[in-house]
Amino acid sequence: MLAQARGCTRCAELAATRKSVVFGAGNADADLMFIGEAPGASEDEQGLPFVGRAGKLLNTLLGEIGMERGDVFIANTLMCRPPGNRDPLPIEIKNCQDYLLRKVELIEPTVICTLGNFSTKLLRGDPTGITRLHGQPEVLVLGHRAVRLYPIYHPAAALYTPRMLETLREDFTRLPELLALGAPEQPLFEEAPELSQAPDLLADGSASEPQQSPGSAEAGAEVDQLGLF
Ligand code: URA
Repeated sequence: MLAQARGCTRCAELAATRKSVVFGAGNADADLMFIGEAPGASEDEQGLPFVGRAGKLLNTLLGEIGMERGDVFIANTLMCRPPGNRDPLPIEIKNCQDYLLRKVELIEPTVICTLGNFSTKLLRGDPTGITRLHGQPEVLVLGHRAVRLYPIYHPAAALYTPRMLETLREDFTRLPELLALGAPEQPLFEEAPELSQAPDLLADGSASEPQQSPGSAEAGAEVDQLGLF
């Protein structure tokens, strides 16, 4: 997947202007995964997520709860920097979403912390904004696994707004207890999809038809409602 991502040209403008494809970084066996928005200039230069000012704040907040970057995995909604740090376009988010889902499937986090609006809206498949949702954990089924989704403010936004930083810090302090809960109850699949099938399930970048074995209409109906992104 890494080689495929590095050569990705699904978004012509991003592929032509990027210096790096920022795949994500951290502990591939992490219980906690952060998903930000998109690489900025520093991330594009270094090929790593959250290495600029927002990243330094993220490191500080992690330190305050006794964690460090090596304990977590960090990715973004987009792997390529939008020119001039403009917002990601809907088509770019769609183009990149199966890479993100495959990372989630490989890392198998118990908690996914979405940072800001873009990743929160993408994973929830709903336009409700971060101001309403931050700090409220919910169980979400992604692919074939249930995870605890925990939306919080984006550290870049908190850099410039002291009250937002205070809220972000408070929300962060609840992460250890959320992690201590472990994985949520998992959905029952008559036939669990194999990890290696995940790319095919999302081959066109949209919600997939579940694999169904004969006589599993009920399980299939359940899977249908899960909705990938
Ligand atoms: N902001 C993000 O959303 N992601 C990064 O990697 C850096 C800044």
